[in-house]
Amino acid sequence: MLTGAGISTESGIPDFRGPEGVWTKNPEAEKLSTLDHYLSSPEVRARSWRSRLEQAAHLAEPNSGHLALVEVERRGQLDTLITQNIDGLHLQAGTSAQRLVEIHGSLREVVCLSCERRSPMGHILDRVRQGERDPECDSCGGILKSATISFGQKLIPADVRRATAAAQRCDLFLAVGTKLQVFPAAELPQVALRHGARLLIINAEPTGYDRLASAVIRDPIGRILPALVGAAGPSPAGSASLATARNADFVSRRSATPTPARRCDR
Ligand SMILES: [Zn+2]
Repeated sequence: MLTGAGISTESGIPDFRGPEGVWTKNPEAEKLSTLDHYLSSPEVRARSWRSRLEQAAHLAEPNSGHLALVEVERRGQLDTLITQNIDGLHLQAGTSAQRLVEIHGSLREVVCLSCERRSPMGHILDRVRQGERDPECDSCGGILKSATISFGQKLIPADVRRATAAAQRCDLFLAVGTKLQVFPAAELPQVALRHGARLLIINAEPTGYDRLASAVIRDPIGRILPALVGAAGPSPAGSASLATARNADFVSRRSATPTPARRCDR
């Protein structure tokens, strides 16, 4: 199972790369998430902490899509949930940490770039609130940063290994709310298909994998996921369910022109 920005847009979190995305509309915002800029400029760090503080004022809540995936886990049907999202909403919804791979990190934690010590975001934001512009690591004085993967920063190898192993052993690879363009998400469905899994895609826009999927669904995620897992009560006879998805092509394939996968470490 793989989720991307699309599952969080219904919680009010913008899709950074979409046409209405933060980075599309404001290229300066993308600069804030480049590691080199962050390391070299106390001013960029101060701006980054300030904007975290503002974001924290209106924290997003998990939506019915996140909750449906908790239900999938509760029924023992979830092996691993890999997410490209850094919002921490899967954990907040109740997905267990041991089944979750936050492949691009999480905004809920802060990491010291020197000694790698982790602390909760809330603790560091308290220090910013009390007047520290660029809080330093308590243990070693190193630069602190949200525990997310910035542009120019490598993914955590153990996370990539867990995600790849999960793709190899699953029988159904469900890709939700992701255009499957950014590495490693762009490769995981391929790994799953090569190992004999079926691919089910739920995304509003076409993906490069649509023609390889057993089924492609364009409906809003917050509505279709609960229906699919039956979390919204018993589904009407003949309607789609996750169980039938394992065995049959249960929805009409509405595949569009495939787009080539793009590789890009972020
Ligand atoms: Zn440190």
